[in-house]
Amino acid sequence: MNALSTLILAAGLAAAALPAPAAQAHQHGVARLDVAVEPSRVTLYLYTPLDNLLGFERAPRSDVERQQADAVAARLQAADRLFRVDGKAGCKLAKVTLSSAALGLPTAAAAPAAGDHADLEGRFEFACTAGASAGFVEVSLFEAFPQMKRLELQLILPRGQMKATLVRPATRVTLVR
Ligand SMILES: [Zn+2]
Repeated sequence: MNALSTLILAAGLAAAALPAPAAQAHQHGVARLDVAVEPSRVTLYLYTPLDNLLGFERAPRSDVERQQADAVAARLQAADRLFRVDGKAGCKLAKVTLSSAALGLPTAAAAPAAGDHADLEGRFEFACTAGASAGFVEVSLFEAFPQMKRLELQLILPRGQMKATLVRPATRVTLVR
């Protein structure tokens, strides 16, 4: 995890009272997804090597690569198709924030990309009428991004926290302890 992710997560911590993150290595094929469940909202935080989304980890160099990057950003913006929260919770997508220095997406700090690797962070906030009733989230990241193989999950639930792993082709993140 680089300084940028730490900063972004720190911002998330203040907003959603998330626990301090454990340092995590940048590993292609693996991404981290935190899910914070609160009565009025469910917030997902995605931390992924850019390679998982694009197949390259630098600014686009051609029209084709620029189109690929735009398509990835559009796909993540349409987060209610990537993440479907249990209907019982009455959630609606409220806000998506994407951050990736390599893609020119706004970042919280002017942190230079470290070495040959680059990441993308996304925050996906759903406003809910009964967020705490959410029993699951259906996650379509594996379908959308073939290079993504595994999600390391951290679930912050009203009754406590737990870690879990979602491995392709599974899609359901269970939110019940
Ligand atoms: Zn990389």
